[in-house]
Amino acid sequence: MLFAEALIASLTPISSPLHSATAVLEPALAPVGRLRDSFGRAITDLRLSVTDRCNYKCVYCRTGNEGAQYSELPIADYLRMVRMLVSMGVEKVRLTGGEPLLRSGLVDMVAELSELRTAFHPDGTPLAPGETGHPLDLALTTNGHLLAELAAPLKKAGLDRVTVSMDAVDPEIFSRITRVPRSYERVLAGVRAAQAAGLGPVKVNCVLLRGFNDSQIEAFAEFSRREAVIVRFIEFMPLEEPSAVPDARTWKPEAVITMDEILRRLNVWRPSCSTPAGLVELPANAASETAKRFTFRDGVGEIGIIAPVSRPFCGQCSRVRITSDGCVRTCLFSQSDHDLYGRMRRGGTDEEISSYLREVIMKKEARHHIGEPDFEKPSRNMVHIGG
Ligand code: SAM
Repeated sequence: MLFAEALIASLTPISSPLHSATAVLEPALAPVGRLRDSFGRAITDLRLSVTDRCNYKCVYCRTGNEGAQYSELPIADYLRMVRMLVSMGVEKVRLTGGEPLLRSGLVDMVAELSELRTAFHPDGTPLAPGETGHPLDLALTTNGHLLAELAAPLKKAGLDRVTVSMDAVDPEIFSRITRVPRSYERVLAGVRAAQAAGLGPVKVNCVLLRGFNDSQIEAFAEFSRREAVIVRFIEFMPLEEPSAVPDARTWKPEAVITMDEILRRLNVWRPSCSTPAGLVELPANAASETAKRFTFRDGVGEIGIIAPVSRPFCGQCSRVRITSDGCVRTCLFSQSDHDLYGRMRRGGTDEEISSYLREVIMKKEARHHIGEPDFEKPSRNMVHIGG
């Protein structure tokens, strides 16, 4: 570990999880070397939205009346942003949207990204002159509608993994949520094509909302076992497009199906006649992992639960986001964006852009305030940020 990194680590509580909504991170020194925020958190994970368009109108995400609200950039400009961030320590890139599979040029973009190499060792020390880093971890989050056709070309271009968003395994409930007829069959074909192409194990992300799809918990467990996918339940967050009048799709604490409730349900569910009920916890894959992982007594199937509302994990946050129109967001719940593309368009050099990025990352928020009296809705909604 570099001396400056050791100093930062000794001054900041980066290794202690932020389990309590009242925990506070203390700002530390200005970062050097690998990109770090003012709390000492290393920024290694980029979520990049490549379009603001989406072909689904999921009830908890969009009003159904609005289309794209932000522009998209030439692929070459996104690639420049990624290169700069990789040179500063980013190791994982997740392409998202809107719906990223709607973006033309996506397969070629993945091919370009697969040529990039990390600039630091996993412990954060810079590579020595002549040393080569390892390929990036390249992932994509999609609604899966166009995945059956694109899974194989994306794999060939160098994509490692896909996460498919699916909020029901009952076809009728599915299309009631997406507001697109026969969408379930298409997405299921996409999941299977991704598995066949070697983009697995596919992760399937499900946002549970009371009264919409909370009947699906056990059916998803069954689905994980049958399709050999990792099903991850994500707590609903206040990130929906606003409606003029609050309705059933508006976030409120009672609408959230919490980790505890999911665990209670799955712990009494019996997977088969020969398998007794009861979840078995699996170890985390990495310290920064956001999901708690479980399997069943026979080891078949995997369930992850991501609980940003009931058990925030901001203390381990290693993420930065770039929106389709080229703005940096330091947190899903930020009150403002940082116009990176504006700097590039005005002719910013790589040095100017990287010092701007360091400045912006120093403003990364300690944590979100969901469910607290002082919570303010973020300046963009999930679909316009990139989840
Ligand atoms: N179109 C792609 C997809 O469907 O995965 C990428 C964009 S979508 C906005 C990314 C993820 O955000 C989806 O899994 C979606 O379910 C999730 N999401 C949207 N609104 C959310 C909310 N209010 N709370 C939690 N997750 C949300």
